[in-house]
Amino acid sequence: MTDADALVDRVRDGELRLHELEEHADHDTAATARRRLLEDETDAGLETVGDYAFDAVEAESAIENMIGAAQVPMGVVGPVVVNDGGRGDDGADGDDANAGGAASGEYYLPLATTEGALLASVNRGLSVIRSAGGADARVTKSGMTRAPVFRVQGVAEAAETVEWVESNLESLREAAEETTSHGELLGVEPYVVGDSVYLRFAYDTKDAMGMNMATIATGKACEVVESETPADLVALSGNLCSDKKPAAINAVEGRGRSVTADVMIPGEIVEERLHTTAAAIAEANTRKNLIGSAKAGSLGFNAHAANVVGAAFLATGQDEAQVVEGANAITTMDVRPRDGAGDDEGGAESGSGDLYASVSLASLEVGTVGGGTKLPTQSEALEVLGLRGGGDPAGSNADALAEVIAVGALAGELSLLAALASRHLASAHEDLGR
Ligand code: NAP
Repeated sequence: MTDADALVDRVRDGELRLHELEEHADHDTAATARRRLLEDETDAGLETVGDYAFDAVEAESAIENMIGAAQVPMGVVGPVVVNDGGRGDDGADGDDANAGGAASGEYYLPLATTEGALLASVNRGLSVIRSAGGADARVTKSGMTRAPVFRVQGVAEAAETVEWVESNLESLREAAEETTSHGELLGVEPYVVGDSVYLRFAYDTKDAMGMNMATIATGKACEVVESETPADLVALSGNLCSDKKPAAINAVEGRGRSVTADVMIPGEIVEERLHTTAAAIAEANTRKNLIGSAKAGSLGFNAHAANVVGAAFLATGQDEAQVVEGANAITTMDVRPRDGAGDDEGGAESGSGDLYASVSLASLEVGTVGGGTKLPTQSEALEVLGLRGGGDPAGSNADALAEVIAVGALAGELSLLAALASRHLASAHEDLGR
């Protein structure tokens, strides 16, 4: 009898519970025993699930009750060309008002998905961006949030609590930063609803996505709030954070990284490579992404940013549930007069102008250390990007990852909008996706 069979028998006899197997055998044997039990109970064959290539011990902090791995195909797109310095910056004057973001140069972006045609489409967009000389990308705001909720007797105590918090930020900072050598408290935004007080703590979490870091630090700060004010902590997360739920606060205030990427594509390139015009793409964007999304009451105003965000999250070990807010993006596409052309011939009216395209992701929560980024395949994917582990300075790797994902999302937006504008979407999916 194998060790796994012995574990199976002990579970069947009621001596062990499924989640206790690692206490009695090595991690691979425990996973094998769980698969056998499941196979017997469900008649499912789990050979492929059990054929994983990483050390089960390394997955311990990522999963409980492990039975194997869900293997999602991974591909690569690129090069993703991110400019160093902004458009109009000749770099000669040393003026850094236009200085580059954290990402600069060429990156290969691994994407994991089961959606056929996605990588081909993103690659088409990236190739157009390369032909246009690359995209610009910047993280414009950064801060991981945790918002505990406190109970007070009424509005007088609520005001007293808010006043104390606003006057004692240093005490809160001291308590919070005791728990981390990397995290820095950026600020605390109070919100009052009747006898509930919400304190939205925001942290610079450097290269970590930072949800554990921010939660632990906020827990410590809450002890100070409770000892110095009439407020009693009800829950360390009061949903104004707002983690893994569609929420306007993230769209407006940002969460994780707020990142924007943009590109100016000459009209000839739009026509030759995308088989449509800047004006047709801009019109499709306005009527679909802006007006259509507004009519639908959508929080995001984009075509499919979630596709690139989700596939990049899976490939690089991000928390996949945070695609909810990570894909909260606004896409803009405008016709700009062609370089050297007067308004008469290059304006939106003639349809022959250049195309300005941007995507702004309000709350992209990414890290290059911690969480799932440590797992072997995910860490290899980050290595492909040259962004594995902590950056120098701290935070620069996670900023660069956010910027590269934003350019990937921009490429996806461009390609899909162009396919719609030229009416090629259905045929592209027929050729590639099925
Ligand atoms: P983590 O794996 O808990 O911690 C990362 C730690 O890495 C940091 O706290 C920091 O330690 C250390 N570190 C080393 N080099 C760093 C650098 N260059 N920059 C920043 N930190 C560095 O990861 P996390 O990002 O805080 O949290 C992500 C995990 O939280 C994911 O697994 C996610 O699924 C999970 N999650 C948790 C909650 C929750 O409520 N707790 C909610 C959603 C998701 P020091 O702090 O000691 O400096």
